[in-house]
Amino acid sequence: MDVLELTNITKSYGKVKALNGISLAVPEGAIFGILGPNGSGKTTLLSIILDVLSADNGQYKWFGQKGSKEQRKQIGSLLETPNFYHYLSAVSNLKITQSISGRGMVADIENALKTVDLFDRRNSRFSSFSLGMKQRLAIAAALLGDPRVLVLDEPTNGLDPVGIAEIRDLIKNLHKRGHTIIMASHLLDEVEKICTHVTILKTGNIIATGEVDEVLSDEDTIELGSADNPALFRLLQDYPGLLHCKTEGKLLLLGFEKGKADAAAINNFCFKNGYVLQHLAIKKKRLETRFFELTNN
Ligand code: ATP
Repeated sequence: MDVLELTNITKSYGKVKALNGISLAVPEGAIFGILGPNGSGKTTLLSIILDVLSADNGQYKWFGQKGSKEQRKQIGSLLETPNFYHYLSAVSNLKITQSISGRGMVADIENALKTVDLFDRRNSRFSSFSLGMKQRLAIAAALLGDPRVLVLDEPTNGLDPVGIAEIRDLIKNLHKRGHTIIMASHLLDEVEKICTHVTILKTGNIIATGEVDEVLSDEDTIELGSADNPALFRLLQDYPGLLHCKTEGKLLLLGFEKGKADAAAINNFCFKNGYVLQHLAIKKKRLETRFFELTNN
């Protein structure tokens, strides 16, 4: 089941077309990354699905239906850091958030603080928290009422590597507990490490979407190495299904149509022709490489 479905969403700010007919579906249980360079429309998209902004055209459905108050309660969000009171404790701040939002019960505050690993610091002032702790408290606020879906805009923005790793682990844990997570990010590495699905936006258009593995690989690449790579290179020119072959350092890189590379068959072929492979690996493209390929065209 899809938790969110967008059909042909458009949004302009005056002459600037921020979103240009966006259609996508977020499956239940996904960690769905929305990736794109600055100004590509990520925040506009999240603001629309959270009813903070209205679209010019198109529609979206949460849980198969157009928005209702009951559905909203199943969506926790973090668009920008909430205005917590610096002189109040984590618990007091969450109590205030809860009374404003009407989400969940007092017991939820305890659970949310445990989930984000701030329970032991629940009575400390917000002003004594590190940036990472502040961000985790903001996620705790989004967790009040135990929503099915969490929408997070750049959740690791401004954090140091330790803070980033903590938020990454937290998102993975929330995912394991069954929450669907939709997050905008410009950190390719983060998206590659934690997301199951990704949509890449460029100037308001989707340029790639799907499971992270699908988006990463538009073709299969196999790396080979032998004692005599130039001779192996010549031998492989007529290998069935080979799209291209090139030398990179001490290795040969063989490109095949997606799903068509068979490492065992290649190994067998080389061996039968007198070449013992010293290296054989199926290579995955890094999201960073793919992102620049897609956004620079
Ligand atoms: P960033 O990564 O920098 O936050 P983004 O991908 O979230 O960017 P948006 O903030 O959604 O992108 O902006 C998309 C486009 O819309 C940009 O060209 C931006 O300048 C423009 N835009 C966004 N908000 C407004 C606004 N309130 N008024 C005018 N233009 C806007």
